[in-house]
Amino acid sequence: MERIGILTSGGDAPGMNACIRAAVRAASAQGLEIFGIRRGYAGLIRGEIEPLDRRSVTNIIHQGGTILGTARSPEFMTSEGRATAIENLRKAGIEGLILIGGDGTFHGGTVLSQECGVSIIGVPGTIDNDVYGTDYTIGFDTAVNCALEAIDRIRDTALSHERLFFVEVMGRRTGFIALESGVAGGAEELLIPEVSMSVDELCSHLERSFKGEKKSAIVVVAETEQPGDSFRIAQEVRDKVGFDSRVCILGHIQRGGSPTARDRVLAGKLGIAAVQALAAGKSGYMVGEINWRVAYTPLQYTWEKGKELNVELVEMRKLLCE
Ligand code: ATP
Repeated sequence: MERIGILTSGGDAPGMNACIRAAVRAASAQGLEIFGIRRGYAGLIRGEIEPLDRRSVTNIIHQGGTILGTARSPEFMTSEGRATAIENLRKAGIEGLILIGGDGTFHGGTVLSQECGVSIIGVPGTIDNDVYGTDYTIGFDTAVNCALEAIDRIRDTALSHERLFFVEVMGRRTGFIALESGVAGGAEELLIPEVSMSVDELCSHLERSFKGEKKSAIVVVAETEQPGDSFRIAQEVRDKVGFDSRVCILGHIQRGGSPTARDRVLAGKLGIAAVQALAAGKSGYMVGEINWRVAYTPLQYTWEKGKELNVELVEMRKLLCE
């Protein structure tokens, strides 16, 4: 293998740039040519492929987002779209691809690889941490710290006004961001899809808290299919027990910003591992980190298997906040 390509796809995540930088430098150390593909699979279809070298990735380690751009490409879901992408890969002489993204990106890459034989290695890059085969995804730690800073700020105003707050965080139907930011921020309650809690239960927990010494509380809510669901929950709580509250939806600010040290280190480690895996002839795996070590997971597991929340953390939050 002499030429490889790299792309970022799906939602952007802080640390993607640190991963691109690591992959480019590792490729150069291995004597491989590396090409950046712009806007994920959409750019692959349009032939937006350009060579990268050590200099093209200087001073990007601290930048959020992705210098390559990202997109969701409905066209890539069609065999016609992928045929054009394959033609572009052939023209550029690219034999291996590093795909930074989530399970959708890995699924698309697997279909492509089956159709044209290109080698593929996935790197988990998403703030949601919802990818099987790695303890953490690139971008998760930064998003959690962003949510935590917001929770801390809201606690100041909640305390001053003796108020109940609902803070809605991202997570794409999972509670990873909500759980870690909720534990770290001392949230009084947590609403996450993995642990069922009715509005009645929530109300009785809150009533118990307010009957004690508490005069303010923060409920961290993981966004659902319908971002903004916290407004409905807050209204239901008001209707049932009369607690006045405020809602804060963090939204896309959790996607941006300079990656944390933890995300940069993870991104560096996985970027190097991806290049080394391709150079060693591996294909069809995601490189992740489990118990601090690089782990190789068959790509199909990432969309076939669900990643479980850390149950101990759920129990720990209950113990600390009741
Ligand atoms: P995130 O977790 O941030 O949403 P993701 O990688 O899961 O990231 P998706 O939007 O699910 O994001 O997938 C990215 C792209 O991968 C899609 O826009 C599509 O082009 C391609 N893709 C996903 N699934 C398939 C599939 N089954 N066949 C072909 N292409 C696919």
